[in-house]
Amino acid sequence: MNPDLIEDVVARKILNSRGNFTIEVDIYTRLGLGRVAAPSGASTGKHEVVAFPDGGVDKAIIEVEETIAPELRGMDASDQDEIDSILSELDGTGNFSNIGGNTAVAVSLATAKAAAASYGLPLYQFLGGSLSSELPYPIGNVIGGGVHAQKATDIQEFLVIPVGARDITEAVATNAMVHRKIKEYIAKKYKSNLGKGDESAWAPDVGDREALDILVDVCDNVKSETGVEVRMGIDIAASELYSEKKKAYIYKREGKERSTEEQIDYMVDLVGEYNLFFVEDPFDEEDFEAFGKLTSRVDCIVCGDDLYVTNVDRIKMGIELNSTNAVLIKPNQCGTLSGTYKAVNLAKKEKMTPVISHRSGETTDDTIAHLAVAFGISIIKAGTVGGERIAKLNELIRISEELGGRARMAVLPKL
Ligand code: PGA
Ligand code: ZN
Repeated sequence: MNPDLIEDVVARKILNSRGNFTIEVDIYTRLGLGRVAAPSGASTGKHEVVAFPDGGVDKAIIEVEETIAPELRGMDASDQDEIDSILSELDGTGNFSNIGGNTAVAVSLATAKAAAASYGLPLYQFLGGSLSSELPYPIGNVIGGGVHAQKATDIQEFLVIPVGARDITEAVATNAMVHRKIKEYIAKKYKSNLGKGDESAWAPDVGDREALDILVDVCDNVKSETGVEVRMGIDIAASELYSEKKKAYIYKREGKERSTEEQIDYMVDLVGEYNLFFVEDPFDEEDFEAFGKLTSRVDCIVCGDDLYVTNVDRIKMGIELNSTNAVLIKPNQCGTLSGTYKAVNLAKKEKMTPVISHRSGETTDDTIAHLAVAFGISIIKAGTVGGERIAKLNELIRISEELGGRARMAVLPKL
């Protein structure tokens, strides 16, 4: 009998970092257990699969018990493609609105973990093989606003990436140091109280350019103390700013509206002025053309999140229009591990940088750390501090330790 024969599938509700319920799935095989919990977004893309069915997490659990578990029992957990096809067929809608995308992704990823455990392997090694030995650079938000925090910046996330770090421990420690120093900096300069957003980024009462100015100073300070070069990035989550009616991006705090052309110029200015390494979702999720115009004008990673929603067909549209040079990868946007894998592969084939990412509502699940190493993804977006964020980062440290002398940092695009 196969060690990865599925014997049982169990689902439960657990809390996520926002204090809301989400689904966690256990898959028991003859010799292994795979457990995965699904995250949730706040600035979700319009084209993502539907996270939960009508009836919410409770209904999702019933779906696992009554619909999914009977189909999966007796199958091999390593039969990933087949299991993911069954999930799509059982749902039958094309967007997982019947069983829930979060239900599907938890089952799909737990299947892979159970298969790995059945053969006594960590997930990254089971999926990636013995040549998977590159650790991704962590990019994490240290200041934030938008829909993740009240009364803060218009731009959702101000990110840092320690491009000069020599190993993963130095990389995650550098980002955490930037986070810590921002608190000291703001306390000194503004003498104001400091809240935190959903992903533990600071949410100070400052404007977008001010946030970038703070980051410049703090990154310089960290570099002079540690020698590690830190570059900056932003996630505008611009679909949240875009008014279809006004055909403009509304910067509430700044008191400014920008047409699409003005938004393009603004982004070009910010990339130039602050030497940005990474820009995510600078335009509305339907505007593939605007993305393309920016990408042609800057020497920087331009990444699509809500634009692509980890969906191969939408990534193909982006390829056709030269929209971006990078693709954000969130497994629960598409609902399956095979869908995630296809999106990563397509991006790589087209020389676009895949960036694997957490969601704003997270659990201590660490699966994306394993997927980053397994799929050879050079950047992981997972925050900098907070239990559900360090769960991923610390797992990368453990993976690096396990790889021993073979471990090396991934190669970043030269910018
Ligand atoms: P979300 O935001 O998880 O709330 O969708 C994260 C992001 O936009 O990258
Ligand atoms: Zn985003």
